[in-house]
Amino acid sequence: MDYDGKAMEKFFNPDSVVIVGVSRLTGPGAFNILENMLAYGYKGRLYAVNPKATEILGVKCYARALDLPEIPDLAVITVPREIMPQVIADCCERGIRLFTLVPQGLAEADARGASIQDEFMRIVGEHGARVVGPNTLGTVNAFDGFMSSFMPIEKRQPPLGSAIICQTGLFLATDLGPTSGLGKGIDVGNQVDIGFPDALRYFGEDPRISVVAMHMEGLRPGEGRLFLDVARRAVQEKPLLVYKTARSAAGAKTAGSHSGSLAGAQAVYEAAFEDAGIISLEDVEDLDDAVKAFLFLSPMRGRRVAIVTVTGGGGIMAADACERYGLELATLTPETLKALQDIYPSWMDVGNPLDVWPAAIGKDYLPVFIQCFDTVAEDPNVDGVVCVGGTFGDGTVDLSDFLVASALRRAKPIAWWIHGRRSFPLAQKAEASRKVAVYPSADRAVRALTRLSGYYADIRGRVAESASRPAGLPEAPKPAAGGAGSAAGAGTRTAPDGAGATSPTGWAIGRARSGEGSVRTLGPEAFDLLAAYGVPVARWAAVGSPEAAAKEADRLGYPVVVKAVGPNVLHKSELGAVRLNLADPGEVIAAGRDILGRIAAAGGEGAAADTGLLVQEFLAGGHEVILGAKQDPHFGPIVLFGLGGIFTEVLHDVAIGLAPLAPAKARRLIEKIKGYAILRGARGQEPSDVDALVDALVRLSWLVADHPEVVELDLNPVKVFAAGKGCRAVDARFLVRS
Ligand code: ADP
Ligand code: MG
Repeated sequence: MDYDGKAMEKFFNPDSVVIVGVSRLTGPGAFNILENMLAYGYKGRLYAVNPKATEILGVKCYARALDLPEIPDLAVITVPREIMPQVIADCCERGIRLFTLVPQGLAEADARGASIQDEFMRIVGEHGARVVGPNTLGTVNAFDGFMSSFMPIEKRQPPLGSAIICQTGLFLATDLGPTSGLGKGIDVGNQVDIGFPDALRYFGEDPRISVVAMHMEGLRPGEGRLFLDVARRAVQEKPLLVYKTARSAAGAKTAGSHSGSLAGAQAVYEAAFEDAGIISLEDVEDLDDAVKAFLFLSPMRGRRVAIVTVTGGGGIMAADACERYGLELATLTPETLKALQDIYPSWMDVGNPLDVWPAAIGKDYLPVFIQCFDTVAEDPNVDGVVCVGGTFGDGTVDLSDFLVASALRRAKPIAWWIHGRRSFPLAQKAEASRKVAVYPSADRAVRALTRLSGYYADIRGRVAESASRPAGLPEAPKPAAGGAGSAAGAGTRTAPDGAGATSPTGWAIGRARSGEGSVRTLGPEAFDLLAAYGVPVARWAAVGSPEAAAKEADRLGYPVVVKAVGPNVLHKSELGAVRLNLADPGEVIAAGRDILGRIAAAGGEGAAADTGLLVQEFLAGGHEVILGAKQDPHFGPIVLFGLGGIFTEVLHDVAIGLAPLAPAKARRLIEKIKGYAILRGARGQEPSDVDALVDALVRLSWLVADHPEVVELDLNPVKVFAAGKGCRAVDARFLVRS
C-alpha cells in the first residue's frame, strides 16, 4: 500500500487507543500492555476490551470492540491467534483502521498460522486498514508519551533524536546503546504491511529525529528499490545506519522462520546500502557507538584524526585503528608543532599521536594535558580528536570536565577512550553533557569517528549519478506487468536463497523457481544478445558437425577454439569439451569429433544429439575477468565484477552494483576488488584496458535491467587486453525464464 503519513503519525501518537485482550494480571512478569502504557505516561483516551472484566487498572473494559463509545485511532491486539480474524473484523466494523498486532505464531510459524494471517489480512484489505506487525512490540514515542510494548520500557527524559526500526523488541525494550534516550522506535515484526520503507520515510520526515538506526533481518521481496529511493532522500537530511543480521546461511534460515522475511545474499544488501548512502555496521556495538557519535558529537567534515594520549602505547592502538578503518592521521601544522615543542622537553620529537606524558613529567599533569589537547584540537588540519585516557590510582586525573568544555568551544568531534575500572562514572559524567562520547576501546572510538566522517565528509551532499542509457543500445522493451522490481504482495514468502546448483560467481543457478516459470539456458544466441548491447564478444559461429566447424574456422581465420554448446553442457572444460589454439582444418575436425564423442560418452545419445559445436577466434594473452548479473529477489537487476579463476571462486574477490550502472560507478566497482592491482599492471605488466571493461559492465547492466527474464548470467571469462586493445567475452551462460 502507498505511504500514508497521517496513519504513520497515528501509530506513534494516537489520540485514542483500544487494547484488545488486556489481561487482568498486573505487576512484574505480567507483561501487561495497558499497565506499561499507563506507566509510560500515555495521556490519550484509553479503552480496554476483555469480556471477563469490567475494569482493569482504572480503565473501563468492554466485552467487544463493537461496544466502544468512540472509534479509537489505534487498536493494539493481543489475543490468541485463533480469534484474531474475528477480533479484527469487529474492530473494522466499529470503524478502526489502524492495528498493531502483537501475537506471534502466524505465517512465520506454521500452515495454520499462515491461513489465520491470510484470513485477517483479507479483512484488513477490504477495509483499507493498516497494520504494524504481527509478532511485534509495536511503536514507541518518547516525545509524546506513547508505547504499545508488553515489555516495560523506561522513559528517559528528555528524549534524544534517535529512532530505530527493528525486527526484534530487544532494541525497544533495553535501555542501553542507541535506545538510551530513544526518541522513537518501531518493531516491524513480520512486516505484513508497514515495513522498512514506510518507517524510514516517516522517521526521515520527522524533524525531531536526527539519526535513524535500523536492525534488519531482511526486506520484503521486491521492495528493495523503493526502500533505497526513500533512503536516498532521507540521507540528505540525517544519517541512516543499518545493522543487517541473518548474514550467515544459518542466520538466514532462522530469520525465515522467525519473522517470515528472508535474508537475501548479504553482499547484495551491502552493495545496495552503499549505493544509497546507508552506513552498514559490523555488530551491535557498532550500532550503539555510531548512534551515540551522531547524537552527541559535532560533524566530522574530513578524515583527519589527531590522537592525544596519556600513554604512547594507547596512541599506537588508536593509530592502528585509524588505518584499519580508513581514517588518516592528521599532519599537524608547523605552528601547532612549534607551540607543542615549547611545552615539551627539547629531546622529545612531537607529532601525532601526541603522547602527553613526557611533557607533563614533573609538572602539574592536568594543565599540561589541557594545553596540549587544546593546541592540537585547534589545528585546522584536524577534523576530529581521539583522546586516550586512563583512570589511574586514586582517580585524581579526571579529564571529563575539560573534554566537555573543549567540545563546547569548537565544533570538532571528541571520542574518548578511557581504560580502567573507574572509567564508568567518568564516562557517565562526560556523556551527561551530550557533547563527548566515551568508548571502551581505541578501536571503537576510532570506528565511531569513521561513521561520522563517512556521513559528513562523503555521503551527505553526494550528488546522485544518474545512469544514462549509452548510445547504440536496443530500445528498452516494455516492462511486463509483475516483472522484476514490482512489489510483491504483503507477507509473500519465498524459497530460501542458495538452493540449486552454483555458478562460479557463487550464485544459485539452474533452478526453476516456483511460480516463476521454468528457467532454461540460452545457447549461442546469448552472444547475439550481448553484441546487440555492444558488449564485445569473440567472433564465433555455431555449427552442427566437425566438418562444418572446419569451414567456419577458415572464414574466421586461424588459430581458433572449438567447444561444445548445448543444454547438457555446463562446465565444458571439465568434460574436455574446449580445445584451444587449433591451427588448421585437420585439428579442428579432430577436436570436433573428440568433443562430440566425449559428450555422447558422458551423457548418452540424447545429450550428443542436442549438442553442437562453437567455433571461436582464439584470443591469446590478456587477463581473464568475470562479468555477471542476476535479478535479485529484493533489489532487482544487479551486476558483478571479479577477476577470473581462484580470485572469484576461492577468494570471493568480487564487487556488486545495482543495474543500470553509471560509468563512474562501474569504474569504482572495478577498482574496488583486491585484484585490481593486477589490472592496473602489477610488477611491470602492461596495464589492462579498464576503460573497455567499464563500458562492457555498463552495457551489461543495461541488458539485465532491460531484460528481467534473464534471471542470471555469467560471462566467464571476459578476456581483457592491454590499454587500448579492448576486451572480449569468450564464454556466456544465460539463464532465461520462459
Ligand atoms: P567452460 O567455462 O565451460 O569450461 P570456457 O568457454 O570458459 O568453458 O573455456 C574455458 C577456458 O578456455 C576459458 O576460461 C579460457 O581460459 C579459455 N578459452 C575459451 N575460449 C577461448 C578463446 N576463444 N580464446 C582464448 N581462450 C579461450
Ligand atoms: Mg567459462
